[in-house]
Amino acid sequence: MCTDCLQKEYPDRGNTCLEDGSYLMNFVGCANCNQRDFVLISNRTTVEEDGEEIVTYLHMCKNCDHIIARHEYTFSVVDDYQEYTMLCMLCGKAEDSISVMPDDPRQAAPLF
Ligand SMILES: [Zn+2]
Ligand SMILES: [Zn+2]
Repeated sequence: MCTDCLQKEYPDRGNTCLEDGSYLMNFVGCANCNQRDFVLISNRTTVEEDGEEIVTYLHMCKNCDHIIARHEYTFSVVDDYQEYTMLCMLCGKAEDSISVMPDDPRQAAPLF
């Protein structure tokens, strides 16, 4: 991973969790070849662990294969909420939670 390619390490992204793509606003240019070219996604993997889905991949310079950052995204369901997190030196850190209930839980019919 390379901090010289970035404006800022782990910028705060609020609740914007990306499971794909690159946050190019934070990319200054490749410190290795001095090009500001496309950033490739490589080695993308998805694993499931205890009901949690973890997506990881590398941001890599298109020009010289220099590794810019490692991206981690997680998804899990906790109670009635879908929890998302993102941690990446390039894309920043973020977390979000969204209710899985379409309606207000207080008005939902009892299922048990
Ligand atoms: Zn490069
Ligand atoms: Zn990233």
